[in-house]
Amino acid sequence: MSLLIENVYVAPVAGPEIQSGYIRIEGDRIADLGPGPAPDTGPDVTRIDGTGCLATPGLVNTHHHLYQWASQGLAQDATLFEWLVALYQVWAAMDAEVVKGAASAGLSWLALSGCTTSSDHHYIFPKGRGDLFAAEIEAAREVGLRFHPARGSMDRGESDGGLPPDVVVEELDDILAATEQAVDAYHDPSFSSMLRVAVAPCSPFSAGGRLMTESAALARAKGVRLHTHLAETLDEDEHCLAQFGVRPVDHMEKLGWLGPDVWLAHAVHLSDADIGKLAATGTGSAHCPSSNGRLGAGIARVSEMLRRGANVGLGVDGSASSELTPLVGEMRQALLFQRARYGPGALTARQALELATLGGARNLGRESELGSLEPGKLADLALWRVGGPFTSAVADPVCALVFGPPPPLARVLVGGRTVVEDGELRTVSQDAAGRAGAEAHRRLIRLAEERGVTAARQVHGTGRPAVHDGGTTRVDMS
Ligand SMILES: [Zn+2]
Repeated sequence: MSLLIENVYVAPVAGPEIQSGYIRIEGDRIADLGPGPAPDTGPDVTRIDGTGCLATPGLVNTHHHLYQWASQGLAQDATLFEWLVALYQVWAAMDAEVVKGAASAGLSWLALSGCTTSSDHHYIFPKGRGDLFAAEIEAAREVGLRFHPARGSMDRGESDGGLPPDVVVEELDDILAATEQAVDAYHDPSFSSMLRVAVAPCSPFSAGGRLMTESAALARAKGVRLHTHLAETLDEDEHCLAQFGVRPVDHMEKLGWLGPDVWLAHAVHLSDADIGKLAATGTGSAHCPSSNGRLGAGIARVSEMLRRGANVGLGVDGSASSELTPLVGEMRQALLFQRARYGPGALTARQALELATLGGARNLGRESELGSLEPGKLADLALWRVGGPFTSAVADPVCALVFGPPPPLARVLVGGRTVVEDGELRTVSQDAAGRAGAEAHRRLIRLAEERGVTAARQVHGTGRPAVHDGGTTRVDMS
C-alpha cells in the first residue's frame, strides 16, 4: 500500500517545517517527505490532496480514564478529594458493558480530535463485573487507535488510612497476579505495536508502599512502563506529609518510582528540587490542564520543567474531570495556562505541539517510532483543514491549530490506515459509538442507584466555602 499526501504544509515537529510539500507512506511507515512534488511516484499510489491542510504527527494522549465517560458532569464544584469521594461509590457499580461503551465513545472522541495513540489508566476492578480490561482493549481495536492501557490498582482503602472506600480496593496478591496476566496476555513490544500495557497503581493516597515497590519490580522484570498520579493537589501534599513524612516526589523516590520508565500524571505541585529530580532521572509527566482547571488543582510548572530538561506530554484526563476535552484543545489550554502564569514567552505554539506529540511519545517510551514525521517512523498523522473561510486569516498554520479553535480534520492515519476522513470516523459508526457512550452513562447511574448510591445524581460539590490560596482553590475542611 502506497499513499501520497501532496501540496501540504508539514510541521514534522523534528526537523524544519515545509511550506508546501509531500509525505509518502509505504505500508505502515513514512517513506519520505520533502518540499515540492514527490519524486518518482509509481502508478499504484493513492493520492491525497493536502491543499489548505496542515500535517502534524498524530497526537498522543498520555493520561486518561476512559470509564469516566459514564460519570461526566457530577460533583461539579468539588475539589479532587471531594470529587473522588463522591464518585468512588458510583464507579464501584461499573461492569464490562459500561467500560466497553464508555471506551468506544471516548476513543472515538479522541480520534476525532487528531489523536492516534492513547494511554488509559484503569484502576477500579469491582469483583464479578466481567473483564473490564479486555472490554476497553476491544473498543480500542475497533476504533483503530494505538492503545497503551495501564493496569491500575488500589489497595489502600479507608481502613488503611487511604482515601477510597474499602469496597473499591483490591488485595495486593490479586492485583499483582491480574497485572502480570494483563501484561502476558496483551503487551506487544514490537516497533509497530498497536497495544502496550503499563503497570499503574493509582496514587499515593490509594496505593500502599508494597503495592508500589512490587508493581515496579513486576514492570521492570517484564520490560513495561510505570504510571501513576502524583502531586496533583495540595491536599495530596498534606496527605503525604502526614502519612509518610515526605512530599509526593520524595515518597516516589524512596519507593524506586523515579526513572526513565516512569511517567506521572499531573505533577502540578513541584518544588525546584522536585523538578530537578524528574529531569535528572528522566521521569516524564502528563500535563492535564483542563482537568487541573476544572478541579481547581493549580497550574503545573511546565515551562520551567521543559527549560530544565524534564519531559512533558499532554493528557485529557478522565472525562469526568474535564468533560469531553478534545486532545487538540489541551495544546491551547497548556499554552494559555503557562502564559497566564509566566507571561507570553512561556510556551510557543510549536512547543505546545511538541508536548502533544513527541513529548507524549517519550512518556510512552516510543519516541523512535512515534511523535514526529520522519522517514522510517510509523505513519501516524493528522491532516488539519486550517485553510477554511474562518481560519485562513491566520497565516501561520501551527498558530491556527494551537491558538485557535480545533480545525476540522481532513484525515487521521494510524499506521497508514484511515481512521478519520473529512471529520467522520471510518473504522466504526460514529453514531453507534456516541450512543454506546450515552447508554454506558445511563447504565452506570442505574447500577449505582440499585446499590443505593445517591451520589450518582449529585451534580454539585459540598457547598463548603472555598478559600483562594495562591491561585489554588482549597476548601476549608474545618
Ligand atoms: Zn487521572
